[in-house]
Amino acid sequence: MNAKSNYPEHASSAASTSRLASSRTKIVATVGPACRDPEQLRELILAGVNVFRLNMAHGGPEKQAAVVADIRAVSRALGRPVGILVDLAGPKIRLGELPEDPLKCETGSELTFVRGDRSDSPTRLVSNYARLIDELRVGDTVMLADGTVGLEVVSKTVNAAVCRVTAGGSIRSRQGINLPGVALSVPAMTGEDVANADWATGQEIDFISLSFVRSPDEIRALKVMMAARGSTALVIAKIEKREALERLDDIVAASDGVMVARGDLGVEIDIAETAVAQKRIIRACQRFAKPVIVATQMLDSMHRAPRPTRAEVSDVANAILDGADACMLSGETAIGDHPREAVAMMSRIMRATERMLGERPTTPPPLAEHSGVTAVTAAVVSGAVAIADQLHAKLMVVATRSGGTARVLSKHRTRTPIVGVSDNEIALRRMSLFWGFVPVPGAPTHHGPQLREFMAEWAMREAGLGRGDNIVYITGSELVPTAKNLVVVHEIE
Ligand code: PGA
Ligand code: MN
Repeated sequence: MNAKSNYPEHASSAASTSRLASSRTKIVATVGPACRDPEQLRELILAGVNVFRLNMAHGGPEKQAAVVADIRAVSRALGRPVGILVDLAGPKIRLGELPEDPLKCETGSELTFVRGDRSDSPTRLVSNYARLIDELRVGDTVMLADGTVGLEVVSKTVNAAVCRVTAGGSIRSRQGINLPGVALSVPAMTGEDVANADWATGQEIDFISLSFVRSPDEIRALKVMMAARGSTALVIAKIEKREALERLDDIVAASDGVMVARGDLGVEIDIAETAVAQKRIIRACQRFAKPVIVATQMLDSMHRAPRPTRAEVSDVANAILDGADACMLSGETAIGDHPREAVAMMSRIMRATERMLGERPTTPPPLAEHSGVTAVTAAVVSGAVAIADQLHAKLMVVATRSGGTARVLSKHRTRTPIVGVSDNEIALRRMSLFWGFVPVPGAPTHHGPQLREFMAEWAMREAGLGRGDNIVYITGSELVPTAKNLVVVHEIE
């Protein structure tokens, strides 16, 4: 038998488990052939997925539209709002076809980049970036095969850049090319990215991420484009270039959320610096109250193995202790042998780690001046959290359209579970990326007796609350026109 039967939590039907028993840290799972069918998507949601990522580098709009429709159908049938993240490939530079594939590159040997999109000689390489030869300079580093193969440009002519292999290995057709430290003039979005973003605006997707972001203007431009087409999707900056680290605060301030994209980041900067960079990025996201996803290789060995390594377990746990709002699975769910087990394992590590968070005092995030959260909102939220702590409240309920209240409350890492309610499906789905938030559909819109009755019933049914338990509400200003936010304590009778 496989290992899973050792754990009683797997024995019970996941469908009947309380929504509040899920991990509070969110799980983003990449969709691919290994989990593409509706039944598999359903299993992953039940195992703990909050957001599905559609990687636009694999499969264009036609293919992805069917995936969107299936995710929406499955999520509705389960009554669980699930987010959809469309990931734009951005200016990823790739090798063209190799005449000899795979090609072994010996350390000390020479490879030459040439113009054009075809090569007849194994040692002459072409790429999808027409200006590569113009922008490379002698001494530049070129990394291939996810950073495992390193080249140095040793000489240049008008039509060729000759490179020496400094770290040998094997390369394949169409693999990514990373140029750490080379300032490229390539635009932030390719024609294909624009077409994909355009498609996404017609799909009611919840998040859109841009790869290889270098400046806040690139994020602002994508926001303008999405808004002009009527999309409300939150825009996420993937931090995977040194230039992005250099302008980190400005990029985080301009974005609605951030991804620590460790795959490419670990090639674009010294791989030894990635752990520290992760902590820096997460810290910036706390100051600006933006959700942050830690991505890539989190449970990498689970591509093939049913159990992760100890180091991977620590990686997920430490990301949470750093302050990650979400952790992402890439190939583990897209092309791995154990997609469901990977999600279930990630969820278990999260829940085990969150128990430790629960022993710490709740602290407000160190908000930056330009966090976009007003002083009143920050104060009301901190006050509500203190009230909930002091009363040992069993639940906090936030009625929100996704503004500052949800963002800043999420960053408090409350002990008390948080339910988010809204009359707006989009707002509910956005909560799929806010740490600690459980979006509950179907609640009455305005704060008042109906909402309190609905929530008390939900809490008794879903979370075992009973008479005498307190629920703390943070609500809008409908009750008192001059108030911005209200905190209401309701004791279940
Ligand atoms: P990717 O982004 O998987 O789309 O490359 C994540 C990363 O680089 O870590
Ligand atoms: Mn990447």
